[in-house]
Amino acid sequence: MICTLNLRCSDCKKLFTAKKHLYYRNNFATQNFADIQLICDSCYNNWESFWEITSASFREENCYYYVDILLANGEEYVNLDCTPLDDIIVTNIDMPLAAKKHLFALYQLWLDEKRKDLLKECIFNEEFMKTTFTCTTYGGIEFKDIAFRFNRKGELEVEREVDTKILEQVAEAWQLYEITGNNHFKSK
Ligand SMILES: [Zn+2]
Repeated sequence: MICTLNLRCSDCKKLFTAKKHLYYRNNFATQNFADIQLICDSCYNNWESFWEITSASFREENCYYYVDILLANGEEYVNLDCTPLDDIIVTNIDMPLAAKKHLFALYQLWLDEKRKDLLKECIFNEEFMKTTFTCTTYGGIEFKDIAFRFNRKGELEVEREVDTKILEQVAEAWQLYEITGNNHFKSK
């Protein structure tokens, strides 16, 4: 039996003409081909331009990420569940692929800022009478061939000023080196 399916947009309810592809709303409850919720090009384009993200602020709570989004049209979405995948962010609200990608780029910036002082890599070198470290953080802070020693109190002393937060991590990496014998620390 050959049937006819009218191309009627489920958003604006108007009949439309299709080009090479159709937009439709992915709905697992749809059983019948005729029940597919089609979206016309015009409604799709409106939806895409609606989702122009101006800013996004992320936060982490108990290993879950949340995001507040401000759109160029002034709309605000707060406290959305936020799951980072390879190059997109998936939230509990449907948005165009371009917006998901944009959100991911903003997420990366946030993550870099958050991990600015976090040790990414540290290499220890032991030469005669001299031990040095070379390290970089996620924020691109770099220290090269810094001579150091542990004083009698067990505190790390360095030949030049290094941020305390970074030094603490270098000291931890050194402890790891003493246990594992691997002089090249890499953060996971
Ligand atoms: Zn429409």
